[in-house]
Amino acid sequence: MARPETDRAHEDDSEQGKMKEYCRTTLELIHLYLDGEILSELQRQEIRVHLEECGPCYERFGLQRRVTVIVSRQRRHSSCPQELRARISQILLEG
Ligand SMILES: [Zn+2]
Repeated sequence: MARPETDRAHEDDSEQGKMKEYCRTTLELIHLYLDGEILSELQRQEIRVHLEECGPCYERFGLQRRVTVIVSRQRRHSSCPQELRARISQILLEG
């Protein structure tokens, strides 16, 4: 006898999938920006708006900082977390 697992298979991932896709796009933009790419005003606005709306991404933003600390530890003092924070603040605060 097969167990009735149809309910579990019926996951509402349509909206979640869309959200994830948007999160990924936003994080890609952030990576580009932190890599020194110049983002358009619209792109930066997308990041800001998304971070205001999306808690998980805001947390992930915090994770970025931790990753950078690790990286900077490997490179000794070539990369400063404070500089990264300033850059992130720039995205969030600039008009
Ligand atoms: Zn998100």
